[in-house]
Amino acid sequence: MQQIKNLAKQIVPSSVKTLIKKGRYFGNSFYDPICNTPLRLLHPNGEDHPTLKEAQIVSGGYRQNSMCPVCRSRERHRLIYLYLQHHTTFFHQPQKFLYVAPAPCLHTAFQQLHHLDYISGDIDTDEREAEFDLDVTQINYPDNTFDIILCNHVLEHVPDDRRAMRELRRVLKPDGLAILQVPFSPIRAETFEDFSITSEEDRYRVFGQKDHVRIYGLDYMDRLQESGFVLDLFKWWEDDTLQEVNQGNKHGLLGNEPLFVVRKN
Ligand SMILES: [Zn+2]
Repeated sequence: MQQIKNLAKQIVPSSVKTLIKKGRYFGNSFYDPICNTPLRLLHPNGEDHPTLKEAQIVSGGYRQNSMCPVCRSRERHRLIYLYLQHHTTFFHQPQKFLYVAPAPCLHTAFQQLHHLDYISGDIDTDEREAEFDLDVTQINYPDNTFDIILCNHVLEHVPDDRRAMRELRRVLKPDGLAILQVPFSPIRAETFEDFSITSEEDRYRVFGQKDHVRIYGLDYMDRLQESGFVLDLFKWWEDDTLQEVNQGNKHGLLGNEPLFVVRKN
């Protein structure tokens, strides 16, 4: 039986698998704009970790109605997609776009947008979706290159996150826009980091994930501003368009997850 399953995995194209999933999860409870699917459910996602729970981490820890069963998008991916769709020219105007450590759901969708000059980069392309090796603390592109940059749940993995922020700012065009999402605690003023904690076990225990190096507090926003960005915190629940778009929690967004939208000052 396992052999048949393995064989089926190899010979059934992913487009057919997607169609099968779309049929299997078809329904009218949710709608994923990324894979364009009406869904009867979203899967729960994230781990019920005591540290994440105690810090009330936004976009971390266990959540109901989180993951699309078709493309595996989470709340943040759908929020980013909807923001780009309703508040930027991303979907129709040619632009140079950098996506750091792309999530497969968005990466697949963005690859279909042929008007974009799309660069995807990751620290380790062997394991991931991205096309190019890219170290976010040393970005191999000239100043003022990109119109739009997406860096989603990366900085919490990077020891020198301030250097990464300065690099992201450097390669952003003067009128460009970047979205720099991190999981963060909305109830802690200060970021917690301790670089003496290096083992995967200890990082898991203290930061809630084996490859995280900190838990951001509200001062994440100060770090962005100290790095030379102007922050335009986008709270979708205060935005008429997105409120309407997500009526009845149609897209399964997190009620308290803002977008950290930044520009050059
Ligand atoms: Zn989906």
